[in-house]
Amino acid sequence: MLVAPPTRRVWLDLILPPLCAFCGDEVDGVELCRRCQRILVDAWPPLAVACRRCGLPRPLPLEDTAHPPEHCGECADRQFDFDSVAVLAVYQGAVREAVVATKRAGTVALAAALASRLAERISTEQAFVAPDLVTFVPSHLLRRLTRGGASGSERIAAGVARRLGVPVAGLLRTTRWVGKQSLLPDERRRENVRGAFAVKSGYADKRSAELRDRRVLLVDDVLTTGATASEVARVLKQAGAESVHLAVVARAVRH
Ligand SMILES: [Zn+2]
Ligand SMILES: [Zn+2]
Repeated sequence: MLVAPPTRRVWLDLILPPLCAFCGDEVDGVELCRRCQRILVDAWPPLAVACRRCGLPRPLPLEDTAHPPEHCGECADRQFDFDSVAVLAVYQGAVREAVVATKRAGTVALAAALASRLAERISTEQAFVAPDLVTFVPSHLLRRLTRGGASGSERIAAGVARRLGVPVAGLLRTTRWVGKQSLLPDERRRENVRGAFAVKSGYADKRSAELRDRRVLLVDDVLTTGATASEVARVLKQAGAESVHLAVVARAVRH
C-alpha cells in the first residue's frame, strides 16, 4: 500500500509546531491564538474622537457645538505637511504590545488584524475621501536587514490597502541613516528627519503619473510628534501628490 508522504507543511509543523505570534502558545494553523486575537485586536476600544490635525484624543464635542474647532489646543501652533490624521487607538497597554509585536518577523496575522481595524476606522470617518494610493514610511536597509523583511508599518499599510481596494506602493527610500526618533527630545526630531527621505526614482519626476494629483494615504504604526510623517508628506507633495492623509494604529500621548 502506498502512503502519501507528509507534505512539507506537516513536516515543518512536527519540527516547529505553529506558535501564536504573540504569546508563543501552540496554535492550530492560525498565527494568533484566540485569546490574543481577543485581547490584542478585538477588545481595545477605538479612540472616540481624535484631533484631525494631530491625532490627539480630545473630549467628545458637546451637543450644542455646531462647529467644533478644526484642531485641538495642543497643535494650534504646529505645522504639519500632512492634511489630516486618522487614529485607531492610544499607544498604551495591549495596543502598545500589539504594535511592538508587529515589528517582529513573522507576525503577518497580527499586522493584518490591525490593518483591517484601521481600514474600517478610516473608511467610516466622516470626512473620508478614498485615497488613490497607499504608502508607508520606509525603513533604512540596515534596519530592515537586522529586523528581517518588511517592517510592521509596511505590512499594516499593505493590509489597509487590500481592505480599501487601492494599490500600495513603496514610494520612498531613505537617503541616510536616521537615528531613532524615540531617543531624541521633541525639538530635535524635525532636524533629525529633515532630508532623510526621497521619492524613489520611478516616482520622482514631477510629471510622473503615479503621484501627480494623487491623494496618498500614508500608513504608520505609531504617531508621536508627527515629525517623520510630516517630512514624508512634504517629500510626497514635492513630487506632485495632491494631498497626504495619515492613518496610524496608535497615537502616543505624553502625560
Ligand atoms: Zn496567543
Ligand atoms: Zn490637535
